[in-house]
Amino acid sequence: MNYKEELKDMLIELGASKVGFGYLEDVLPAKYKHLKTGVSLAFRLSDEIINEIDNEPTHSYFHHYRTVNFRIDQIILSGISKLQNWGFLAMPVPASQSVNVNGSKYQGIFQHRTAATRAGLGWIGKNACLVTDEFGPRIRLGTILTNMEVSYDSPITSSKCGNCNKCVEACPAVALKGNIWYPGIRREELVDPQACSQHMSSHYKHIGRGAVCGLCIKSCPRGTKIIR
Ligand code: SF4
Ligand code: SF4
Repeated sequence: MNYKEELKDMLIELGASKVGFGYLEDVLPAKYKHLKTGVSLAFRLSDEIINEIDNEPTHSYFHHYRTVNFRIDQIILSGISKLQNWGFLAMPVPASQSVNVNGSKYQGIFQHRTAATRAGLGWIGKNACLVTDEFGPRIRLGTILTNMEVSYDSPITSSKCGNCNKCVEACPAVALKGNIWYPGIRREELVDPQACSQHMSSHYKHIGRGAVCGLCIKSCPRGTKIIR
């Protein structure tokens, strides 16, 4: 049985837009290193919802954001069941959950974006989001960590942002630094997560309790029909 292809087909069938497999042992925290394979999936957001965002997030975007995160968690759970039924270890990384890691309240237990670049899904843009060729940053990510070994997909190791700065210019919090991503760059070199979070919570409390923004996703020309 080709476990990799069977798992990928199942995740696509359940709604994932892109799926890849990346080698992660060297970038995982010590306690997860035995789960060296990252299965990364991207779920495409609704273009119509993103296109409605103007100077601030919309109620529709907040609802969509939460619904997609919930859906990703469900898809990932199906993947976990499949892997465990085959006899492998498998652990979901929550679609959207910040925990206090090394004093920072703005990180998950492992960064989906790192798994996604290792799995060849895209690069990390100047907006600090994963950017795909097909859908730009108009996606949400999910990750499974597993000890199933596969033939890994080729990692993405360079940015395609070039001289574009649209997301940097669009950020109302001046949180984006405008630096080009490379593997291993510190997140703080791309974005000030505190400035981003504080802007959202102080300006968008009336929409989604200040938890979403979306302006740096909407402003990106990648993934739109017209490259501006
Ligand atoms: S989510 Fe909004 S505030 Fe945060 S970096 Fe993007 S544009 Fe700036
Ligand atoms: S708006 Fe431009 S700089 Fe920002 S992520 Fe998209 S392509 Fe990169």
